[in-house]
Amino acid sequence: MAELFQIHPADSRITRITDAAGTHMYLVRGDREAALLDTGVGYGRLDEVVRSLTDLPVKTFITHGHVDHAMGAGAFADAWISPLDRALYLEHSDADVRLGYLRGNAGSSGMSARDIAPELLQPVKPFEEFHPLLPGDRFDLGGVTVEILEGRGHTPGCVTMLLPELRTLLMGDACNPFTFLFDETCSTVEEYREMLLRLRPQVEGRFDRVLLCHGPGGEGTVRMIDNVIAVCDDILAGNVDDAPFTGFHGEPVCIAKAMDERTFTRVDGGEGNVVYNPARIREG
Ligand SMILES: [Zn+2]
Repeated sequence: MAELFQIHPADSRITRITDAAGTHMYLVRGDREAALLDTGVGYGRLDEVVRSLTDLPVKTFITHGHVDHAMGAGAFADAWISPLDRALYLEHSDADVRLGYLRGNAGSSGMSARDIAPELLQPVKPFEEFHPLLPGDRFDLGGVTVEILEGRGHTPGCVTMLLPELRTLLMGDACNPFTFLFDETCSTVEEYREMLLRLRPQVEGRFDRVLLCHGPGGEGTVRMIDNVIAVCDDILAGNVDDAPFTGFHGEPVCIAKAMDERTFTRVDGGEGNVVYNPARIREG
C-alpha cells in the first residue's frame, strides 16, 4: 500500500503534508510553538506524522469546515475553526461522506478506491471542542505569526492565513486556480468578489508565495487574487465560456473559463477560474 502521507519541506519553517486524498496541509514551526494549517480528511495517524516533524506544542488552524480539510482535527487538542462553518462541518463529519471523498480521490495519492480501509478513519473532533477562529485573529509562534484574514465565499467561515515573516499566504480553497463557488452554502459571485477586493489591500506587498490545498505542487502565483477578481468581473459582465460541470449534489453548474481536460489549465492561458451556479451570480 502507498504511504498514507507524503512529506515535502516547502521552506526551512514550513513542511507540506499531503494526505491519501491528495489534500495538502502545512506544518509551520515558530521558535516556541508550531501551527498545523488544516488536517485533511482524517485518514491515518496525522498526529504521528506531526510528532515526527516537531517537538513543539502544536496549534491547529482549519481554513474551513469541508470534509477534506477539517476531519483530522480530532487528534489535536488545541484546534481552531470558524463557528460559521459548524453546520457544514457536522454534515461532512459523517463517515460515509468521508469514505466517499477518500474513494473518489484516492487516485491522487497513487491508491485506488479499493485500498481505502474504513478502520483507518480517525475519530472527528466534537465541534464544541474547537476554539473559534475569525478574521483579525493573530497567533505569535515565536518569530513567525499566523494572521487570520478574510476568505468567505467557498464556505461561510472560510479564512485565508498570512505568515508575514515568511512572506507566505495560505489561500487554500478560498481563491485558487479552480475556485468552487457553486454550492448553496457559497457566497454569490458578487459577494465573493467584494470579499476579494477587501482582502487584496490587507495582503498587498506582504507575500511572495501562495500555498494551496489541492493540485500538484500546491502553489499558486502572487497574482492569484487579481486573476480571480478578473474572472468574477467577467462572470458579472457575461464574458464567460460556461463549460459544463457537475456540482456536489449532481446539479449542473458552470466553469467560467474553459479548461483543457488533460493539463487542467485554462484554454486561454490565464490563471484562476471559478466554478459557479448561474442562478447565484447576484443576490435576489
Ligand atoms: Zn473546500
